[in-house]
Amino acid sequence: MSNDRSSVRLLVAGELRDTAGQLPVVNPATGAPVGDSPLAEADLVDEAVRAAHAAFRDWAALPVPARTAYLTRFAAWVRDHVDPIARTLTAEQGKPLSESIGEVKAVATAFDYYASAAPHVLGETIPTASPTLRSTVLRQPSGVVGAIATWNYPLGILAWKLAPALAAGCTVVAKPAEQTPLSTLALAEGFVAAGFPAGVVNLVAGPGATVGAALAAHPLVRHLTFTGGTGTGKTLMRVAADTLKRLTLELGGGSPLIVAADAPLERAVADGVKRAFRNSGQLCNSVQHIYVEAAVADEFTERFVTAAATMRIGRGDAAPEPDMGPMCGEAALQHVTDLVEDARAAGATVLTGGQRLTGPEYDGGWYFPPTVLTGVTDTMRISSEEVFGPVAVITVVSSVDEAIERANAGESGLVAFLYTTDLRTATLGAERLEYGTVNINNVGGGDVPFPYAGWKQSGLGVELARDGLTAFLETKHVRVELGY
Ligand code: NDP
Repeated sequence: MSNDRSSVRLLVAGELRDTAGQLPVVNPATGAPVGDSPLAEADLVDEAVRAAHAAFRDWAALPVPARTAYLTRFAAWVRDHVDPIARTLTAEQGKPLSESIGEVKAVATAFDYYASAAPHVLGETIPTASPTLRSTVLRQPSGVVGAIATWNYPLGILAWKLAPALAAGCTVVAKPAEQTPLSTLALAEGFVAAGFPAGVVNLVAGPGATVGAALAAHPLVRHLTFTGGTGTGKTLMRVAADTLKRLTLELGGGSPLIVAADAPLERAVADGVKRAFRNSGQLCNSVQHIYVEAAVADEFTERFVTAAATMRIGRGDAAPEPDMGPMCGEAALQHVTDLVEDARAAGATVLTGGQRLTGPEYDGGWYFPPTVLTGVTDTMRISSEEVFGPVAVITVVSSVDEAIERANAGESGLVAFLYTTDLRTATLGAERLEYGTVNINNVGGGDVPFPYAGWKQSGLGVELARDGLTAFLETKHVRVELGY
């Protein structure tokens, strides 16, 4: 498998398809071309959705073990192709190769998980007041699913949508982001190799404004599942309203990290650095706001800045591997630069980093160093806008209560982190934080068995876990009178 145009195809109606139009993909580490992606247009989206619609009845009717066998075969194919797909992912997205390898393996994990979860989705029988009346509740797949993903974890995000949808008995049409179509389309061969019936899985690539919009508006799409920016999510909600589609939205984050005076400090620093700068901060649950209690503020800040400043930055495929690769393109880098400049101009202090990296090893690519700010006030853009880059803001607070109040004041509610050794602070903090996930003394996440939900303007619905599968099922009450 390689990245050249001859081996990357869309998947429509069971066929690997090329197109007249093509979409050049650039390596964010160098600015050099990586390859071209076929480019769908609205008519091909329509063909893909119709193929998915035509395939739906038979796919939904398959006995669960027969259906999940396709998912298991696909997972095995992915495990056999980890290395080439991971290299493609690093080439188009920029992240260190070991992280890409982990992400490809996570695709297989998600398909295996939902293959084993599907048999455990049960209906119910409800007792009635009549000896001749029976009430049964069935859970049935909702139909064609449109899946639209962003570029930061293109494969992981896609798998979290496709695996549960397919396991539930839905058919899918998926669209990756323009920056990262190649790794997603590399999976097309795997769906064919696993023998999925024609039309059950369709992969189309192209701009959100045309291809994504056509998919979102298509009347035969019954459930739209989307991961990306909050603004786009709101647009899709309006579009989906026309045909009352079911919606799953995983949107913007920008997480708070609260460090109590009794926190395990070394761990808070190490984990905080990892969560603020991993994937160049291009994580929905990236640490953006650090609230640290005054008693440990100086020590925490000094250690955090030292750790941030000594991170190794470079190409994701370099040896030895860097801690952090480039950002995924000019627009992402410019957004981060603008937010940092806005804060600096208004009086914030840049403790490390703060501007684009230049020099022979960075020329052509989009590198922004780990950056730490203090002195940020509520009127600066970075206090309310998601940075989605390697920037952390440290704010000293007088208490954990104040930190929680500040963390709850914004519009996002995806993931919050709290470091403390006090059981009461941890328990009450977890209950009070208005977030879909609260991590106490750890920054782990992205594990398939556990639910992932965005509160407030960070999303709608739940991904992962059993909830991620039941999201694609409709409830049907069957009421049978036997006494006729
Ligand atoms: P966008 O919202 O710009 O794009 C995401 C996807 O939507 C892309 O495939 C894009 O197409 C497509 N799209 C854009 N406009 C439309 C439209 N009008 N109709 C249909 N599809 C459209 O993503 P961002 O670049 O803003 O992604 C980063 C955001 O994603 C951050 O806010 C981050 O927090 C969030 N995110 C959330 C996660 C979560 O689980 N909650 C996980 C990861 C990221 P194209 O780009 O190809 O034009």
